[in-house]
Amino acid sequence: MEDCIFCKIIKGEIPSYTIYEDELVKVFLDVNPNTNGHMLIIPKEHYKDLFELPEEIINHSVKLVKEKLYPLVKEKLDCDGLTFSQNNGYGQEVKHYHIHVIPRYENDHSMITFDKDMLIPTEEVFSKLSDK
Ligand code: 5GP
Ligand code: ZN
Repeated sequence: MEDCIFCKIIKGEIPSYTIYEDELVKVFLDVNPNTNGHMLIIPKEHYKDLFELPEEIINHSVKLVKEKLYPLVKEKLDCDGLTFSQNNGYGQEVKHYHIHVIPRYENDHSMITFDKDMLIPTEEVFSKLSDK
């Protein structure tokens, strides 16, 4: 993908603070971090979102976070937890799949807000999602 920022990061055409890489993924610091140590895990191949992504990449990333990245930020940055998240479609700024790995600190005041005025009754949602 010629115009993809993250493909350019993979190719080294855009610099990044790379924390880890292997044959499947690259992990680097987010340019606009939410907390100290906010990293992105991206596949080396271009996949737009979760719906295109081979499951192997998710499994690999979960293992990487458990075995390497979380122990690293815990030890070096003394964080108190970790948020593992990713956006697809609406809310996704860069259309090259990426997982946010966000070390959490007590009192970091993270807040995801949604417009609750858009809510319809739960019974209605349930009847749309189930056969009942
Ligand atoms: P999204 O909103 O797509 O889930 O998140 C995209 C993330 O990529 C944002 O947190 C943004 O700061 C980060 N980002 C965008 N462009 C660059 C870049 O060129 N370098 C780095 N390191 N991060 C970037
Ligand atoms: Zn890409």
